[in-house]
Formats: sequence, C-alpha cells, structure tokens
Amino acid sequence: MQIEYDEDTCIGMFQCVAEWSEFEKDKSEGKAVLNDSEETEDGVFVREIPEDAELDAKFAARTCPVDAIKIYDDDGEQLIP
Ligand code: SF4
Repeated sequence: MQIEYDEDTCIGMFQCVAEWSEFEKDKSEGKAVLNDSEETEDGVFVREIPEDAELDAKFAARTCPVDAIKIYDDDGEQLIP
C-alpha cells in the first residue's frame, strides 16, 4: 500500500499528524511533512506504508479536509479518498 501527499494542496491543519506519526508539522512552512518519502513530482511525496501502519495512514488520509493525502493499493488503485 502506498501513500501520496500533495504539499501544495495542504493547508496545514495538521489533523494527519495526530493520526499517523510519520506525518510531522513544519510550522515554518505551515505544511505537513511525510517522513521517508520521495518527491516524485513537484510538491508530491510518495512512500510505502508499513503493514502495521495501514490503519493509521488511512485515518490520516480520511481526516485531511482538503484531500491532500491519497492511498493506493499495491495494484495502483486509489482507495482513499
Ligand atoms: S490534514 Fe491535510 S491539510 Fe492538514 S496538515 Fe495534513 S495534509 Fe495538510
């Protein structure tokens, strides 16, 4: 399972930070940071989700008010939002 985070869409409400510890606050930028992710295009960060963190990552994606976080299964199908 993969997670994709779009920094440009993020409005820094930080609900995701409360749901999954791999999201952190960058208060100077007013944006979330996705740890251990790779920037695959400008402002878009992607990483694998460890199996034991899938639930937390899904909660993070669901709680984002602007849908800046997407979840994909291993076949590349979008699960959330
Ligand atoms: S919940 Fe969404 S808008 Fe809020 S910090 Fe996380 S990614 Fe950004």
